Amino acid sequence: MENTTKADLLSMTEEEIVSFVSSELDLPAYRGAQIYSWTRKGAPIDGMTDLPASLRRTLKERTVYRLPVIVKRLTSKIDGTIKYLFELSDGERVESVFMKYEHGNTVCVSCQAGCRMGCRFCASTLKGKRRDLAPSEILGQIIAISADTGERVGGVVMMGIGEPLDNYDATVKFLRLVSEEKGPGIGLRHISVSTCGIVPGIMKLADEGLPVTLSVSLHASDDETRSSIMPINNKYNVENVLDACNYYFKKTGRRISFEYTLIAGKNDGEEDAVRLAKLLKSGVKSTCHVNLIRLNEVKETPFSGSAKARATAFCKKLNSLGVTATVRRRLGSDINASCGQLRLSASDGE
Ligand code: SAH
Repeated sequence: MENTTKADLLSMTEEEIVSFVSSELDLPAYRGAQIYSWTRKGAPIDGMTDLPASLRRTLKERTVYRLPVIVKRLTSKIDGTIKYLFELSDGERVESVFMKYEHGNTVCVSCQAGCRMGCRFCASTLKGKRRDLAPSEILGQIIAISADTGERVGGVVMMGIGEPLDNYDATVKFLRLVSEEKGPGIGLRHISVSTCGIVPGIMKLADEGLPVTLSVSLHASDDETRSSIMPINNKYNVENVLDACNYYFKKTGRRISFEYTLIAGKNDGEEDAVRLAKLLKSGVKSTCHVNLIRLNEVKETPFSGSAKARATAFCKKLNSLGVTATVRRRLGSDINASCGQLRLSASDGE
């Protein structure tokens, strides 16, 4: 592939661009700093007005610099959430979501085209994994959204399509790129990495020294139920996952956050709440937070979301047993803002 030998500018830190510019192009360091700054704004090469035309030509020849292209944009009339369908250079498509919160704007990014984790309620995995995204393609979603909305992005959640810890190196590089102060400048403490529970990945991430929030998709409090909806549980069970969470907390001091999707009749009964509280109280050696999400129904799967009242009751039960939990507000409910569904329907030719 021609691209593999070319420098991929958006996958490079400022230091890497400066060093490329001086060692490969024989130019002074400040040219690297200029290029870095333009690329983080998403400027086209021809718009890099303080670079000589000859250098702009060289960049076109010697580097790869592409932003994901917006193919669809859905804006919620309820809360201003914007859902994007992006096309990558080889035609693969991924989704991102721009969300407005009181404390700032947050973007949900995808890290793979498709997913191979096989969670049975999830739209992203239905057609398997097509490929991993490069760091530039993950970062590019944020830069493209920032340019499109004209708004600053202050937080990131890796909760879009794909499993971050199944694309480990690109995820960690992305985290370094997105938190660079002279670039996007998004603090690592404002970033959540969500995982279905790949234990070796959690342990490795704990050792990186990156203070991101680890968000673990638990969805069940016993192995039987969890394995029936999440195949990864056959490899790393509930106990293994909680041990890894404790290690993560020990190394980073960061409170763990658990995702729990409420599926009608599957994991949303009072006995489930009691079991979950017991598990977290005894198994997690830190304070933790449970995010309850009512399942967004995916027509290709047999599951339905719990009713609102049931979700509230589940939450109250957890709270009464001393577990911090909240039912997540459904942002962009009118545009189906949960990830995976837009890409899926677009690939069906809808
Ligand atoms: N692979 C990562 C991140 C992507 S999914 C992970 O598993 O955590 C982000 C969150 O959305 C996960 O908690 C996932 O289980 C959840 N999710 C997937 N499909 C969903 C659906 N249809 N309704 C509600 N939540 C869903």
